[in-house]
Amino acid sequence: MSKVPSTLSYDDLRALDARHVWHPFTQAGTAPPAILALGARGATIYAADGREYLDLVSSWWVNLHGHGNPAIAQAIADQALRLEQVIFADFTHEPAARLAARVTRLLPGDLDRVFYSDNGSTAVEVSLKLAHQYWRNRGQHRGVYVAFEGGYHGDTAGAMSAGHSSGYFEQWREMLFPVETVPFPATWDNDPEVEAKEQAALDALDLIFASNPDHVAAVIVEPLIQGAAGMRMCRPQFLQALEQRVREAGSLLIFDEVMTGFSRTGGLFACVKAGVTPDLVCLSKGLTGGFLPLSMTVAREAIFQEFLGQDLSRAFLHGHSYTANPLGCAAGLASLDLLQAAECQERVRTIEAIHRARLDKLAARPNVARTRLCGTIAAMDVIGDGEGYEAGVGPRLKAAFLERGLLLRPLGNVLYMLPPYCIAEADLHRAWDIVGEVLETL
Ligand SMILES: *Cc1c(COP(=O)(O)O)cnc(C)c1O
Repeated sequence: MSKVPSTLSYDDLRALDARHVWHPFTQAGTAPPAILALGARGATIYAADGREYLDLVSSWWVNLHGHGNPAIAQAIADQALRLEQVIFADFTHEPAARLAARVTRLLPGDLDRVFYSDNGSTAVEVSLKLAHQYWRNRGQHRGVYVAFEGGYHGDTAGAMSAGHSSGYFEQWREMLFPVETVPFPATWDNDPEVEAKEQAALDALDLIFASNPDHVAAVIVEPLIQGAAGMRMCRPQFLQALEQRVREAGSLLIFDEVMTGFSRTGGLFACVKAGVTPDLVCLSKGLTGGFLPLSMTVAREAIFQEFLGQDLSRAFLHGHSYTANPLGCAAGLASLDLLQAAECQERVRTIEAIHRARLDKLAARPNVARTRLCGTIAAMDVIGDGEGYEAGVGPRLKAAFLERGLLLRPLGNVLYMLPPYCIAEADLHRAWDIVGEVLETL
C-alpha cells in the first residue's frame, strides 16, 4: 500500500508539503503555506490557485533567460539520452570539456583551470581549500583569510566562516574558523563619501597585511555587489586598488562571482567589467541558466601547477558525487549560446536603462534612499521601521507585492530587482509602476 494516493488535488499536495517538507530560510511556525507552482514560462510563474507571479528575483538569482527556455530544455533532453552522468575521476565527457574551455576563454588572464562542483557554497569552499593547500604545497602555512564586512559566501562551514560578519550564522559561531574582516566601501548614487570609504577599507587591509606578513592565504570578495548583504555595491576602481594590494602582499585574490557572473553586472563577469584578474573565481547561480545545480571554481594556471607532482598528497583530494554532471554542463553550454547572442546583450542594456530611469524617478520619494544600480540589478533602501533582516518593512513589502502578482523579496529594508534577461519591457515597466504604488501606501 502506498502511503500517498495516486491522484492528488492541489490542496492534497500542499498538505503533503506542509507535513513532510522542510523549506530553506523559513520559520515554518509562522510562514504562510508555500505557493504551489504548476509551471513557468519566461518571467512568469503560474500557481495552482490560478495566480501569476512576475519573477523579478530570477528565482534566487539563478534564472538568466526566463523559465522553460526551450533551447536549454532541449539540450538537457538530448544530453540525457546520450550520457546522463558518469564518474568524473578517470573519466571525462564532451560537455564538461567544452564548457570549461568556453568559460575560461571569457575570463581574463590565465584563469584556465576549472574545478567543477554543484552549488555556490561548494564553489567557495573549494576556493578556500585550494588557497590553503596552494600555500602548503609551497611549504608555507598561511592561516589568515580576509573577507569583507557583510559579505555572504554560502552556507557550508568554510563559506559561513568567510561570511561570518553577515550576521546570518550566529547559531553556528562555535563551528567557524576565524576570518579577518575589513569594511566594504558600499556606495550609491551621488555618494560624496565613496573615496573616504574606499581609503578606509584599503587602510584596514594594509594593517592586516602588515601584521601578518606571509600569513594571509587569500582575500575573498563579492566583486562589485555584495548580494545577500543587501545589494551593496562598490566601484570598479576599488577592486583594482584591492588587486594591487593583494599582489604587493603576495597573497591570493578570490572573486566570489556566484551571483555577479553571466552578465548580471552588465559585463560578462564582474572581473571583466572591473578589469581585474583574480587568482580564483567562483561561479554558480547563472551557470546553467537556472535549470540545474552546477558550479565551478576557476583557478589561474599557476595555481594548478603547484598541485602537480609524483605524490598524491600534493593533489587536490576533493570531489562530489555529481561533479561536472553532463546534464548541467550541457545546460551551461546552451545558456552561454543564448547569453553571448547580441540580442541578449542588448536586453541586458535595455534592462539597465529602464532601471536607471525608474530609480531616478523613485529617488525623489521621501521613503526611498541610496538608490543604486549595477547592470541588471537595481536596489534602494526603504526608509521605515529599522534596517537589516529584522526590519518589519521587508515582510510587509513582500506580501504587498505578492498580492499584486510580483515576486520580490526585499533583503530587510532593501528593495531590489534582478529580473531574467528575457523580461518584456512592458512587464518591467509594470513592475516599477507597482513598486511606486506600493511605496506610496507605506
Ligand atoms: C548564493 C551565493 C552563494 C551560495 O550559493 P548556493 O548555491 O546557494 O550554495 C555564495 N556566494 C554568493 C555571492 C551568493 O550569492
